[in-house]
Amino acid sequence: MPTDFDATRALFDLPERVIYLDGNSLGPLPRAAAARVAHAMTEEWGKMVITGWNRAGWMAMPSRIGDRIGRLIGAEPGHVVLGDTLSIKVYQALASALEMVPDRRVILSDTGNFPTDLYMAEGLCRTLGQGHELRTVAPEDVLEAIDGSVAVLMLTEVDYRTGRRHDMAALTRRAHEAGALTVWDLAHSAGAFAVDVAGTGADFAVGCTYKYLNSGPGGPAFIYVAPRHADRARPALSGWLGHEEPFAFDLAYRPARGVERMRVGTPPVLQMAALDAALDVWEGVDMADLRARSLELQDRFIEGVEAACPALTLATPRDPARRGSQVSFRHAEGYAIMQALIAHGVIGDFRAPDILRFGFTPLYLRPVDVDKAVAVLAEVMDSRAWDRAEYRTRARVT
Ligand SMILES: *Cc1c(COP(=O)(O)O)cnc(C)c1O
Repeated sequence: MPTDFDATRALFDLPERVIYLDGNSLGPLPRAAAARVAHAMTEEWGKMVITGWNRAGWMAMPSRIGDRIGRLIGAEPGHVVLGDTLSIKVYQALASALEMVPDRRVILSDTGNFPTDLYMAEGLCRTLGQGHELRTVAPEDVLEAIDGSVAVLMLTEVDYRTGRRHDMAALTRRAHEAGALTVWDLAHSAGAFAVDVAGTGADFAVGCTYKYLNSGPGGPAFIYVAPRHADRARPALSGWLGHEEPFAFDLAYRPARGVERMRVGTPPVLQMAALDAALDVWEGVDMADLRARSLELQDRFIEGVEAACPALTLATPRDPARRGSQVSFRHAEGYAIMQALIAHGVIGDFRAPDILRFGFTPLYLRPVDVDKAVAVLAEVMDSRAWDRAEYRTRARVT
């Protein structure tokens, strides 16, 4: 049965008179999440207090819900766990991977990667103090740059600014041929299109849940460790909940079996309750339908904007195979234009220095919304509505 996108849209509590093109940055509220969190608060926390860890299954949530995400990213069952933030999961995955390639010192990434991934890598290199080096090349040069010096290839599949998508299978294959391991950041992939971590042979993968998976601001991150490494990878953050027997309260650390060892400390129960409800939306969704609809929305937007707004330059690849689920345009006044657009009811976001970013999320976005967004953008550009001092004042979050 084809996916009913009108039905999925009805599952979201979308703000009125707003066209939301920023679900790639923060997904909107799924209706069921509010009720689920309220239930977790009053019925679980309120009535069970500490017994909720067992009676409400709080302690098992990171792996139970991790598995639900695992289905969306093509992971083998039992190999995804939730917790912490994505920055921390990047650090953990990278630290484990580096230790598994002890004779090499290079982390290869690209200049389009999200800064926190690069910062975490730099910080880890310094902490290790063994001469590790972060090497970044242009995204299009990554394949050629994989050589025998690379210990770990650390990439984000979809570029947060341009929306350019790497060929995960080809790059993973090349990395393995060169004797390197891979850490894939799926921040802009999980929930955006079907990912196949098992099929592509990814060694480690990490991602966040508050973007396309709609868990709400500050929702926990996830980490995948390939089954062949899961009992071997040493967790750099050896927290008590990644211990084989946390409640034995041993003085010595012994890692848990499998991906459970990537847990660190007490998990965010209320946020996981929101995520669990948000994942129910995916039950009737066919990922091939999702991808087809996402590309249809993107193409419609690109065509409309290029026809109506010649001053904006497309920053996203035209080839659909090289795109994620967002479309970006460049303009020197991008920040002011985006502020004006938001003031006119179309929410996207801006990424320095000049990128206007728009996310396309078929679960709640229709072709008619895309047409309206194009019309509003054209109006903002034609009337120069953006050319006002108030739209140039940078807020803390852009
Ligand atoms: C959104 C995003 C992050 C955010 O990391 P947090 O620790 O959740 O703040 C990290 N990396 C990439 C590639 C992202 O897109």
